[in-house]
Amino acid sequence: MALDLRSKEFYEMLLENVLSRVTRDSSAAAGDRVLDITPNLVIDAKNTYFTNLGQVAKMLNREPAHLARFLLKETGRAGAVSDDKLVIQGKITHEEAKRLINLYIKEFVRCPVCNGIDTRIVSEKRFRFLVCDACGAKSPVRRV
Ligand SMILES: [Zn+2]
Repeated sequence: MALDLRSKEFYEMLLENVLSRVTRDSSAAAGDRVLDITPNLVIDAKNTYFTNLGQVAKMLNREPAHLARFLLKETGRAGAVSDDKLVIQGKITHEEAKRLINLYIKEFVRCPVCNGIDTRIVSEKRFRFLVCDACGAKSPVRRV
């Protein structure tokens, strides 16, 4: 059966094709990827041990030391990284840790332009930029 290129059927088929492509593309966009990160915390009388620091940093494609510096700076606590774990002096609740990690993602991982998470932090002279591999945006970030 020959297809009449001016027919309504053909037009509808074309439209459907385009629409399905649009839907597929947008659902595959990096910005839709959900980051569900749960810090594992062990709290004793003196310290809080963030035991999956290395794993969380890896999921975010960041250096554990960078995430650790951010967490210590934001909490105003002393601490140190050892064996991909972060030891924080004092007690940090799970909610606080989760909130800070979300802040970290917002500031140092997610592209403010396309919302993607395929980003890198690059240094240029005294400045730091968040460079997005998805859309190419380059946004200044503070130094931690
Ligand atoms: Zn982007």
